[in-house]
Amino acid sequence: MRQTGLGRTHAVGLNAFAAREIEIQANVGQGLPGFSINGHVDASLREARDRVRPAITNSKFSFPELKVTVALAPAEMPKAGSAFDLGIALAILVATEQVATTKIGHTVFLGELGLDGRLRPVRGVLPALVEARARGYTHAVVPMGNVAEAVLVGGLEVGGAQTLGEVTSWLSGDHVLDTVTGSQTVQIPEIPDLADVVGQSEARHALEIAAAGAHHVLMTGPPGIGKTMLARRMPGILPPLGSDESLEVTAIHSIAGTLRAGYPLITAAPFIAPHHSTSVTAMLGGGTGLARPGAVSRAHRGVLFLDECAEMGPKVLDSLRQPLEEGEVRVSRRDGVATYPARFQLIMAANPCPCAPAHDVDCVCSSVARRRYLGKLSGPLMDRIDIRVRMDPPGNTALMNPVEESSAVVRERVATARAAAIERWHNRGWLTNSEVPGSALRQRFRLPPRALRPIELFLRDGRVTARGADRALRLAWTLADLKGLTQPTESEVAEALLYRDRGGHR
Ligand SMILES: [Zn+2]
Repeated sequence: MRQTGLGRTHAVGLNAFAAREIEIQANVGQGLPGFSINGHVDASLREARDRVRPAITNSKFSFPELKVTVALAPAEMPKAGSAFDLGIALAILVATEQVATTKIGHTVFLGELGLDGRLRPVRGVLPALVEARARGYTHAVVPMGNVAEAVLVGGLEVGGAQTLGEVTSWLSGDHVLDTVTGSQTVQIPEIPDLADVVGQSEARHALEIAAAGAHHVLMTGPPGIGKTMLARRMPGILPPLGSDESLEVTAIHSIAGTLRAGYPLITAAPFIAPHHSTSVTAMLGGGTGLARPGAVSRAHRGVLFLDECAEMGPKVLDSLRQPLEEGEVRVSRRDGVATYPARFQLIMAANPCPCAPAHDVDCVCSSVARRRYLGKLSGPLMDRIDIRVRMDPPGNTALMNPVEESSAVVRERVATARAAAIERWHNRGWLTNSEVPGSALRQRFRLPPRALRPIELFLRDGRVTARGADRALRLAWTLADLKGLTQPTESEVAEALLYRDRGGHR
């Protein structure tokens, strides 16, 4: 072991969704024995000292009894978390000439160290390695538990290690690192099928329309009526994610630490259902260390389902407005503001009243309490809900007809309708009807006067606001796409207006 020297290794740092190459320098020099880590690091990262020193000695290496200074560059980027542990330990071993260095220059090292030298999985490996590849690295070494997600980044040689000792053996050429996880049997959780839902034809149709045009939905009805059951089937009728979307969504869940083991790639629209007691932080994201994406980001390119939404705090409901408007969410950090993508489709479900009986006749709430309960769901958030559907206990005829359409059949119609919308709007950069600005619907794509008549009547009677009228127009285009029409007629416009009017709110 050399007494003094300088060692360099490489890692990737994440600041929310932004990844950046990090150079780790370890200097071992004369002076009072000590160990410091510098370079805009937070408390969680400074704790690496307490892990790296024992991990090195417990892996049969020597920790220098000199002044050890570790610096992470670039200094201006805030750094957090435990993923730099491995790179820090190796930089110290390089500085003291205890490991071979030929592979160090083109390899990125990520992983948290246990006191015994074992490597523990970390969050955010996928987006980190996407950046490493872009910076020209050819190799990456990650904890075994992160290998399955790491290999999703094509074009990088990925090795998984269980311990610091395995990494140093690989560096000296004595050990081959594993590139695949033990289990090769892929278990992708099945999305439940619409065929299992009996009756509720109106609500089923509402979800189909929502899927076709990316509209937000509110379902009201007594508990046990099947609101949750239907909502859970939404990902099965949405188009599967494209390959770029798939990687983007998987990267968010990598940072959240919510990837499946074994087969981490997310290929279907995510379905995220936060509890009604959820906090604003859990909804939007945040926390110490590497900020965790909230429910709105984990639902990116998928469905955010709010069950019993009338029970949610007004602050939590209100917090959804900014991500709904901008398609991304800003998370306040000690070091400024971090941004995560958050483009989701909202499905809300509510009981009609606080006592929530199975049959409306058994309700014991006062009429004031009933009105106030759903009255909470009003204002700017509700204005974004294009489809309201009231669900009632199925009649006998529905129950006698046990054969229901499968998700695959509905998905086919949704795909056809979406293709028509893309064909119409793609020159203008819109992919779904829900994204089309109101001005375009009123000017360039204005419908003939006859088709607009229902809207004029609703506006005149104050049954719809001007903004609500625009949203009804978007929905009318989706209804037309589902029917294979070139544009909505009076009938689709009237139907769209009724979808806003149902469920007891406007
Ligand atoms: Zn009641």
